Amino acid sequence: MPVNTVRGPLDGSELGQTLIHEHIVTADWSMRMAFGAHFYEHDVVVERAVEQFLRAKESGVRTVVDGTPVNMGRDVALIREVAERTGLEFIVSSGFYYQDEVYLKWRSEDEIHAWLTRECEDGIAGTDVRPGIMKTACADLGITPILDKVFRAIGRVAAEQRLPIFCHHHTEVGNGEAIVDLFESCGVAPNQLVLGHSGDTNDLDYLEGILRRGAYLGMDRFGHCAAGNSLENRVRTITELCARGHGDRLLLSHDLATYFGVFGSWEDFKTGESVDPTVDFTFINRQVVPALASAGLTPDAVRAMLERNPVEFLEVH
Ligand SMILES: [Zn+2]
Repeated sequence: MPVNTVRGPLDGSELGQTLIHEHIVTADWSMRMAFGAHFYEHDVVVERAVEQFLRAKESGVRTVVDGTPVNMGRDVALIREVAERTGLEFIVSSGFYYQDEVYLKWRSEDEIHAWLTRECEDGIAGTDVRPGIMKTACADLGITPILDKVFRAIGRVAAEQRLPIFCHHHTEVGNGEAIVDLFESCGVAPNQLVLGHSGDTNDLDYLEGILRRGAYLGMDRFGHCAAGNSLENRVRTITELCARGHGDRLLLSHDLATYFGVFGSWEDFKTGESVDPTVDFTFINRQVVPALASAGLTPDAVRAMLERNPVEFLEVH
């Protein structure tokens, strides 16, 4: 299957080095409409994003999966603008984040399924852009009754449309295998699924439990090393999983955003005060790849995680 990017379908062989989970912006549309320039300004974000992603391109990145779903302020026009100005390929997500939205609470699984099917078949929000991946998420509360319904609707869409699923999950909740079960019951093959944010733990038994089921692991928060699991721990866990034969099921990314509307003040972002210049979309190529090499991984093993595995996952055979 070709892979849907924001500028149209592409053959997997054209994707090159791919970051499996990033965001340009997560800024809720209701907040944008209500508070305007006190919450968000399009032009400021686009200029900053173009500058950051051009640096990422220079470091070797070719394709970026934007993991922003419908209810995190997905902005397809902005993603396309950044793709056109940088020459990078961007893959857009469909689906929902983990908060229990009232507008989902009273909807049936079939109605949610119909909305998402429509955007996969006709394009997103009046454009011809089709999602290349489905996004789901559960957090500390696990799969709530509303999420159970949303997951089933998304699982059915993924199975019917032959799209992969990225599932944000919290390793401390430990429900990775239950998520694989749920999606399998909707017709999703485990190798169509990545358990996101798996790199936040170093519990090899937990991670191997998921890998034995055939799903991918997202070792995808290298932009959050300072706040969570350290770079050294993340690298050690990846190296050990590769030594145990799982190198073909690992995907790397930063989970950064040019602007995360969920954290921090817009003013601090605009003046540059809240931006850490040492951590950006080049961090994997600058810091992680050399660290994996020093830990003993061959260049081919590293290339698999950044080039071959993303294509295998995104193409959905
Ligand atoms: Zn994310």
